[in-house]
Amino acid sequence: SGAPSEMDEKLKARIENHPCYSEEAHHHYARMHVAVAPACNIQCNYCNRKYDCANESRPGVVSELLTPEEAAHKVLVVAGKIPQMTVLGIAGPGDPLANPEKTFRTFELIADKAPDIKLCLSTNGLMLPDHVDRIKALNVDHVTITINMIDPEVGEKIYPWVHYRRRRYRGIEGVRILHERQMEGLQALQEADILCKVNSVLIPGINDEHMPEVNKAIRDRGAFLHNIMPLISAPEHGTYFGLNGQRGPKPKELKSVQDKCSGNMKMMRHCRQCRADAVGLLGEDRSQEFTKTKFMEME
Ligand code: SF4
Ligand code: SF4
Repeated sequence: SGAPSEMDEKLKARIENHPCYSEEAHHHYARMHVAVAPACNIQCNYCNRKYDCANESRPGVVSELLTPEEAAHKVLVVAGKIPQMTVLGIAGPGDPLANPEKTFRTFELIADKAPDIKLCLSTNGLMLPDHVDRIKALNVDHVTITINMIDPEVGEKIYPWVHYRRRRYRGIEGVRILHERQMEGLQALQEADILCKVNSVLIPGINDEHMPEVNKAIRDRGAFLHNIMPLISAPEHGTYFGLNGQRGPKPKELKSVQDKCSGNMKMMRHCRQCRADAVGLLGEDRSQEFTKTKFMEME
């Protein structure tokens, strides 16, 4: 209601040419992901480790793992062929911050050779508080955290364990650590003035009724966008809770939760759940033009 605040205007300028955040920009600007981060430090019940991290990507996709040097080479090749390339993200195939050396080395190489490319990063949030200073120093444009719950009792049905500081925590003990670290990470990003988007995987019967509370908590801590994505459940992507019965939401159920959460915060509705090695405009996938055997030959 009323005129957009000064804050809205500032935010608008920051996300204007970002394909993932602006409805208009995603027709004109391209993004790419590089898959340099294989390890993960938590277990989501909807994840099959043979495939890319299901928190940011479409389930059932296997991306080609690259070293930081190969990834930087690929980014330069792609930027030479697709001039609209503005954003480079690291989103998998595991958790980027469970592989901090590989992730930050990749960013350093790219920032050095192609300083105009915006950098972004996705994480489950467990290790985020440890790395906010480095993320800020590297001028990373924005961070995405996947937050599926703020109530550890809900989280118990989503996360069987968390591996934190050399120890494995099972059940609610692990979920409490994950929750606290996610909230701490959000707060730290807000204090460092780094844009933060939140992804949530909507799991019918598990966190659907809880989602408005998640939305409020992340909004209070400064997240600028909430991307509620459907659980895509298919037996070949892994079995949820060790059972085959868990279904994803119907389009109507997804829309109803998104509507309940829209409030004053922008909701992202055009995310395509891109693969961890996606290349091109959002609607297109040109990853097969730039496989490792191909891009290593290109100048
Ligand atoms: Fe899988 Fe991603 Fe969850 Fe790790 S954070 S278990 S890679 S879905
Ligand atoms: Fe953008 Fe979503 Fe694709 Fe990430 S996964 S590049 S946020 S559309």
